[in-house]
Amino acid sequence: MKAVYFEDHGDRDVLQYDDFPDPEPDRDEVVVEMRAGALNFLDVWTRRGLPGLDLPLPHIPGSDGAGVVHAVGEDVTRFAPGDRVAVTAGLSCGVCEFCRDGDPSFCVDFRVLGEHTRGVHSELAAVPEANLVPVPDHVSWEVAASAPLVFQTAWRMLITRAELEPGEKVLVLGASGGVGHAAVQIAKYAGAEVYATASSPEKLELAAECGADHVINYEKTDYASEIYEMTDKRGVDVIVDHVGGPTWKDSIKSLAKNGRLVTCGATLGRHPETDLNRIFWHQLQILGSSMGTPGEADDVLPLVWDGTFRPHIREVLPMSEVKRAHSLLETRNGFGKVVVVPDAQYE
Ligand code: ZN
Repeated sequence: MKAVYFEDHGDRDVLQYDDFPDPEPDRDEVVVEMRAGALNFLDVWTRRGLPGLDLPLPHIPGSDGAGVVHAVGEDVTRFAPGDRVAVTAGLSCGVCEFCRDGDPSFCVDFRVLGEHTRGVHSELAAVPEANLVPVPDHVSWEVAASAPLVFQTAWRMLITRAELEPGEKVLVLGASGGVGHAAVQIAKYAGAEVYATASSPEKLELAAECGADHVINYEKTDYASEIYEMTDKRGVDVIVDHVGGPTWKDSIKSLAKNGRLVTCGATLGRHPETDLNRIFWHQLQILGSSMGTPGEADDVLPLVWDGTFRPHIREVLPMSEVKRAHSLLETRNGFGKVVVVPDAQYE
């Protein structure tokens, strides 16, 4: 088969698209003929190399993808060749106290397909049966590949972790990113008043199309002051932050009393300054959130399949142009998801 892979960590030049040995599935795995894969910033981190992540090389990246079942291991019961499926990326042990208690995203051995194990940006991929969800016939491969990781992540952040209530005010930072644009749609669906930040008029227009009631260009104005004005000095109830670093201080300033800041990433910095006085005096909550559970995928993905939520596809590229695909994420060009398709399937 052909696959995207790298033999060493590094910049985009380490990415190749070439012949690679076919996967050898375990008894509980399904071999999927991939029709599309989607990128997440995680693919960039994995390619660059993360502290403490010691991957066997060469490594195939990619945590999001969709395709047709090609073959099934002997223990597989839910799928048969020809089925349309999408991949969810959380891998858990099933036996630790947290898995047994019903939330596998707390697993002590939690791993992510594509980050800790071989991913799916390839013509064929062996995926555990537990990580596949069925995809109805009317859903395009691009949509099926783009939805799982970001919609599952944003759903867990807002619905499970922040316990968002109708009528609350939500601020989504970086609404042009995958998680950001999913969070805007989910917050609106949950009945919230949605504020969104992005860096250009085009991105803000798309954020408004996703359901944002108020948009703020963070390149032009300091969003903490804007939120202060727009909410009549009150602040917002929930903030979705996947940026970290320079946004952190302003996020804490933008929360109302009893507000919740939910973070799922620190793309721009892991060690921001925190004003503890504000945390206790305003009785704020800082909530971490990472990926999601199979149950959360089952809750949110049908709402993508029925068109309630729409992943915005910024570009579809053949896998041989994977370097350019990574660069679209690294330069923050565009809005929504970047999709890669095996060259043999690309039209
Ligand atoms: Zn576990």
